[in-house]
Amino acid sequence: MLKVAIIGSGPAGYYTAEGLLKQFGSGVEVDIIDRLPTPFGLIRNGVAPDHQSIKAVTRRYEGTQLGGNVRFYGNVEVGDAVSMDELRGLYHAVVLATGAPEDRPLGIPGDAKPGVIGAAAFVGWYNGHPDHADLNPPLDTEAVAIIGNGNVALDVARVLVKTPDEMAASDLTRHAAEIIHRSPIRTIYIIGRRGPLQVHFTPKEVGEFGELGEAVPLVDPEQLPEEGAERQLDDPGLRKTVGQLRQFANRSPGEKARQIRFLFYARPKEVLGGNRAEGLRLERTRVDGAGQALGTGEEFDLPAGLVITCIGYRTLSIPGVPFDNERGRFMNEDGVIAPGLYCVGWARRGPTGTIGTNRPDGFLIAEKIAASGVSGERPGRDGLEALLRQRDIWAVTFDDWKRIDAAEIARARIGAPREKFVRVDEMLGVVSPQGRSDL
Ligand SMILES: Cc1cc2nc3c(=O)[nH]c(=O)nc-3n(C[C@H](O)[C@H](O)[C@H](O)COP(=O)(O)OP(=O)(O)OC[C@H]3O[C@@H](n4cnc5c(N)ncnc54)[C@H](O)[C@@H]3O)c2cc1C
Repeated sequence: MLKVAIIGSGPAGYYTAEGLLKQFGSGVEVDIIDRLPTPFGLIRNGVAPDHQSIKAVTRRYEGTQLGGNVRFYGNVEVGDAVSMDELRGLYHAVVLATGAPEDRPLGIPGDAKPGVIGAAAFVGWYNGHPDHADLNPPLDTEAVAIIGNGNVALDVARVLVKTPDEMAASDLTRHAAEIIHRSPIRTIYIIGRRGPLQVHFTPKEVGEFGELGEAVPLVDPEQLPEEGAERQLDDPGLRKTVGQLRQFANRSPGEKARQIRFLFYARPKEVLGGNRAEGLRLERTRVDGAGQALGTGEEFDLPAGLVITCIGYRTLSIPGVPFDNERGRFMNEDGVIAPGLYCVGWARRGPTGTIGTNRPDGFLIAEKIAASGVSGERPGRDGLEALLRQRDIWAVTFDDWKRIDAAEIARARIGAPREKFVRVDEMLGVVSPQGRSDL
């Protein structure tokens, strides 16, 4: 019996488990370990609360969970509750699928002021990630600057301006909705160092901005490429996106109470303000033939009581695992860190691609494990459970998670899919109010 531990229950973790079941069938025992009591990583804590159809992919992961010899151990942090060395001793193979949960720093003067928040924290807060439950972002501001030209920036802007009615069928957490929906926001700037031809937005997400109830998207016509320039682009999605941005240049600021201003060719230089963020100083840029942003030396200021950076993420290092500090991910060659130790998903590639991009990653690692020809007996989950019992660590099982899930669904407001628990204690309280369940 091959015994594999997968650390992290996001898409990359579950696709790896699926690949292993495909390769080995009943000849493999897979244990998926997550530091949270809830599975599915960024599907629960990252994907926007008003994009419920995307979250439906968890049904596939549930199929994997229940379709073979797979167990979930939630509320167990690797590197804290158990060490990498211990896991490597217990299993034939250990796969790190820990994602990239840390914001890349902005790295400009003033970026440590209160009111400068990274997307991992901000999105985690509105999505109910327990690490960010107490974030309390300063939304008592009329102007917000969002830095970055990817879909995460669009998610954040959209969640901030959608009305309660527009969010009725979402699972936006109550604590966030209360603050967001009474915010006096009038203007949101979405800022990119380069131009419309270089954005990483996808057309569906940009298109949603044309249909918002209380906010109008605006693009300065001067910042658009010359008519038809996008026809030269190889990427059909980007062609469409640029066409949509052109339409925003025809919209008028007075159409709606709130404005979303796409601001291109602008590089953040300094966060302005006293003891909290009050604005942003930017330098105008131009894009050279290689697509790089070059500073022009011309500066301008914007008001912003909240600055949200959506500029990428880093994996957290784990003691005992070689780490590429420059790239913010584990050192690896095609997912192999060392014999018997692998990484997949964002922990392997960095924060790029869609949910589906993690599937070939997971399948590849399953193939590599198959090809590695492991042998000998390992204690596997018997050893893990003994260790957890000995340390009095309360591991949440998949059945326990289904109870948390049912309780969240039961307490949802009318029309919403669920009301998430945002604290680990609340989640554990649902699992076993009379005392913990036995492993
Ligand atoms: C804001 C946002 C919105 C997105 N929206 C979309 C979208 O709409 N569509 C789309 O296709 N893609 C979207 N993505 C991308 C998608 O979420 C990622 O491709 C995917 O989640 C990466 O999967 P992963 O398994 O590598 O990491 P994650 O999903 O981050 O999973 C990592 C898991 O590891 C666990 N973990 C971390 N450290 C430890 C540890 N030490 N011990 C135990 N467990 C640990 C974490 O708790 C987590 O559950 C979005 C990403 C973000 C950030």
